[in-house]
Amino acid sequence: MLQANASLEERKRFVEQRVADACQRAGRARQDVNMIAVTKYSTLADTLAIRELGMHHLGESRWQEAKPKWEHIGTAVDWHFIGHLQTNKVKDVVGKFAWLHSLDRMSLAEEVERVAANRNVRQTCFLQLNISGEESKYGLAPMETVEFAQAIRRFTHLRVVGLMTMAPYGVPAHEARAIFRELRAWRDRLNEMHLFAEPLRELSMGMSDDFEVAVEEGATFIRLGSILMGERQI
Ligand SMILES: *Cc1c(COP(=O)(O)O)cnc(C)c1O
Repeated sequence: MLQANASLEERKRFVEQRVADACQRAGRARQDVNMIAVTKYSTLADTLAIRELGMHHLGESRWQEAKPKWEHIGTAVDWHFIGHLQTNKVKDVVGKFAWLHSLDRMSLAEEVERVAANRNVRQTCFLQLNISGEESKYGLAPMETVEFAQAIRRFTHLRVVGLMTMAPYGVPAHEARAIFRELRAWRDRLNEMHLFAEPLRELSMGMSDDFEVAVEEGATFIRLGSILMGERQI
């Protein structure tokens, strides 16, 4: 068990062991699972410290909060934009964040395409799906996904690499597992339909409370905030 005052190094070691164990249970190679340190709410000092401990994927959900860290660290790490993205904030994200996890609607796709084209970059994206159907969650309804995928094929500055979802807060492990399994099934279905230039390889799923189940169900990116960075002041 982790103490509330555990150091970042102790947290990292604890999480690393649990990820390794989950990989072993699932018969997966450890290097196929990428850990994103979710540094929203964390100080610059803690963000630098977790990077020093070897984490090179950092996740943020708001540009205003990410800005000082981004400006300090720059593109020496892979930045992941994991939060809901308002259309008028796209200009802050495209090209700065190597990975956008929350592509979930047409107006956003259009704006990302427009800004990326202007800047002559390709923006790597996940389609965010609302598998649980929770009204408070963002994301495409699974049934809309095929149509959405077909509609954005013409956007040559988007590179869609996988799917992302969030399980509802506090659900038991078996419910999270069913949600993650369904996300994987949707990825496989989209791949069978050959909707994208390259097959979707990635699954961004699993947070502090459910990352082990997510690894067992095929996550390639897990997004870890509190368990890794500690409980932070919001
Ligand atoms: C905050 C956040 C996380 C990390 O949450 P923890 O439960 O603290 O691990 C992961 N994914 C998204 C989309 C988030 O907003």
